[in-house]
Amino acid sequence: MSGMKFPIYMDNHATTPLDARGFEEMLPCFKEDFGNAASRFHLLGWRAEEKVEKARARIASLIGSAENEIIFTSGATESNNLAIKGVAWKYRERGNHIITCVTEHKSVLDTCRVLEKQGFEVTYLPVDSKGLLNLDQVRSSIRGNTILISLMAANNEIGVLHPIGEIGKIAKHAGVIFHTDATQALAEIAIHVEEMGIDLMSFSAHKMYGPKGVGGLYVRRHNPRIKLMPLLDGGGHEYGLRSGTLNVPGIVGFGKACEIVCAERTEEAKRLLSLRERLRKGLMNGLTEVYVNGDLEKRLPNNLNMSFAYIEAESLLMGVRDEIALSSGAACMSALVEPSYVLKALGVPERLAHTSVRFSLGRFNTEEEVDYVIRRMVDEVRRLRDASPIYEMVKQETGPPVPPHPH
Ligand SMILES: *Cc1c(COP(=O)(O)O)cnc(C)c1O
Repeated sequence: MSGMKFPIYMDNHATTPLDARGFEEMLPCFKEDFGNAASRFHLLGWRAEEKVEKARARIASLIGSAENEIIFTSGATESNNLAIKGVAWKYRERGNHIITCVTEHKSVLDTCRVLEKQGFEVTYLPVDSKGLLNLDQVRSSIRGNTILISLMAANNEIGVLHPIGEIGKIAKHAGVIFHTDATQALAEIAIHVEEMGIDLMSFSAHKMYGPKGVGGLYVRRHNPRIKLMPLLDGGGHEYGLRSGTLNVPGIVGFGKACEIVCAERTEEAKRLLSLRERLRKGLMNGLTEVYVNGDLEKRLPNNLNMSFAYIEAESLLMGVRDEIALSSGAACMSALVEPSYVLKALGVPERLAHTSVRFSLGRFNTEEEVDYVIRRMVDEVRRLRDASPIYEMVKQETGPPVPPHPH
């Protein structure tokens, strides 16, 4: 008997389901424990504050920071804005140059674009055909007026990992502040801010089985102390860096999510890698002319980004939409027909970029689901190809493989 539920969810880079253990801890905060964590003079305030501080400690322990180095925000978009604008505005007299990369999340790239309009200079480092950075290029792009390097830990489309520890060393050596967007990395990859020389780090609960609308920013306090200009003015919550009443239920769910990741990550990453490889091999054995985008080794264990030549990713995803939840390119770009800027940066030809599908596996996926997805995708790609006049033409031109025929 199959225990599968439909649609099978393989879009965990867009958002992850909330783990029931986190949900259980959140519930009282919606009911009897509804207090404002900033209320100083009664039990409900103290109880809320206690829950917030417990969550802060769990998050700090996951990334190897001190508790007072964690700032709660509404998510990684806000954390990226606070880190990058916060440094840029605070250190403006020291310099106006920022280094980032063309494959960063929109919340980093668009923030940098805004800063360019304000007189900052931004270097957008390229990546190679596998999506990897050249560390010599990182080094040589640092100038006397560079104040910030912002490079992500794991890419949200192709899952490619940047060598964060190496970049941390380069930044430290040059005396430049180093920010990393670790939103996609934290659930599967061990990140230690001290060991890796990270000064600022963004993360988000809903990408690691916590609730939506809550995230965090790690801000280094010693060697050196990083200062930020806040985005919001008000009550001075979160050490003056993020005013506004704290989202106590969200923070509690986030804290529990971090505790679970801490306990289960090593085993879970192995399980996800074996599911991902099963999926990749199944698709590659079942179909010709499929290509993996991005480096296969330096990659999140749960990511597979693949081009299926001669079909449109949109048609493929529409064909299976009742059974499988997937993304083509970047989720936030899905409303546009533009192929993904990340795939473009890798030099994936436009005709192939249009055929790309992102599979992102998660905690609740099973082997049975992976096998179903392989079968269903193989069938659907074959069906679409058989209906495609272009595929028909190419097949006739190349024909079936012919043995060499000497004349
Ligand atoms: C999802 C995501 C974000 C944005 O996070 P929100 O919490 O949804 O604002 C930022 N960076 C990366 C790499 C992401 O995957």
